[in-house]
Amino acid sequence: MFGRITKALFLGIIFGPLLSSAVYAQVSPTQALSERSIYFPGTEDLRPDEMRITSCGTGQPTIRPKQAAACWLVELGNGDKFLFDIGAQSMSRIAGYKIHYDFLDKVFISHLHMDHYADLTALWIGGLKANRTVPLRVWGPSSFAAEYGIRASLDALQEAYIWEVTSATGKLDGRGQRIEVTEFDFSGVNQIVYQENGVTIRSMPAIHDLDGAVSYTLEWNGLKFAYSGDTSPNKWWIDLTEGFDVSVHESFAPPSTLIEKQNYGAEFALWLSTLAHTSPPQFAEIMKLTKPRLAVAYHFYNDHDTLPEQLSLIREIYDGPLVMALDNMVINVTKEDILVRRAVLDDEVWPMAPNRPVEPAEKPKMEVMSDFTRSGEYFMTDILQKLWDDINREYGSNAQLPQR
Ligand SMILES: [Zn+2]
Ligand SMILES: [Zn+2]
Repeated sequence: MFGRITKALFLGIIFGPLLSSAVYAQVSPTQALSERSIYFPGTEDLRPDEMRITSCGTGQPTIRPKQAAACWLVELGNGDKFLFDIGAQSMSRIAGYKIHYDFLDKVFISHLHMDHYADLTALWIGGLKANRTVPLRVWGPSSFAAEYGIRASLDALQEAYIWEVTSATGKLDGRGQRIEVTEFDFSGVNQIVYQENGVTIRSMPAIHDLDGAVSYTLEWNGLKFAYSGDTSPNKWWIDLTEGFDVSVHESFAPPSTLIEKQNYGAEFALWLSTLAHTSPPQFAEIMKLTKPRLAVAYHFYNDHDTLPEQLSLIREIYDGPLVMALDNMVINVTKEDILVRRAVLDDEVWPMAPNRPVEPAEKPKMEVMSDFTRSGEYFMTDILQKLWDDINREYGSNAQLPQR
């Protein structure tokens, strides 16, 4: 059921000291290890029949250094890549996966809580700065009224960032400026919201605070991935995700942890953990009923002092394959095997080079800087002329320093 790396990961936690002699035996003074139980982004081919799932955010709604908020990247052997949610701080993880923004152009939002889509702004604008040459496509649910749906939210977002986008207009590629929004009916059960290139993505309603939260499934090449977003246990998920390859479902902090760590009152903690979200025993019951090849619990602070209770509450009910998610976990899935590792990111990464020639959008028609502001410029003619000349000489360019 588990791949060998999955086994190594689990055994390593429990029997680490007992395995150390086996690890030493593989080490050579000059040669790389034949097998590394770690993932370095950009160093491995994805097989044509393989799915790679990476957790770019697994924490709770309040952001902290250790875990970004909800975000899952699914990469397929046909080259397609999909983001499911993009919560606050997750872009700092995604950037480490060394994927050009042109290929991070499909985002599926489960609902409009900040911890599930705040970094859409960072992806959108970061992509502008990296000369994304395609529009950013975003899918998400409607709600009980038009102004609560994803289209209204992203229209407002684009209005809020008019200064930002205008500042790039005429300089950086214009094709990536737009967000293309597809809003679908939140109440659709197993409704197809995306179908291209052999990939089918479906939505189902989630039960979470307001109308307008959904869960997603992705099916490709006979492999099935499910992502809950936020939801309390519901019949749709249980009916539709049975026997999936990988089921990523929230397992929120149990009420006791919310009371002790977050200073919530008992009544609110109970409501939040069990009725707005899914508590660990409820998660366990869902996995017991649906029996995925790999169950993944996320949306909790995964710490030395919270994991034991979270895990034991689950293990009282569910004894199947399980991962307690942290950020930057990588799950490679084929029909034969599932490998689970952690990714190690290069934290000095730069955006990838543009994927094709840059086509700047037309310059803004209106005057975007007044004579007043310009009149304050302290123009260092000699220093600037030298810099411009040096660069022109070194790179064969012919940029002309504006005269003041
Ligand atoms: Zn959430
Ligand atoms: Zn939420």
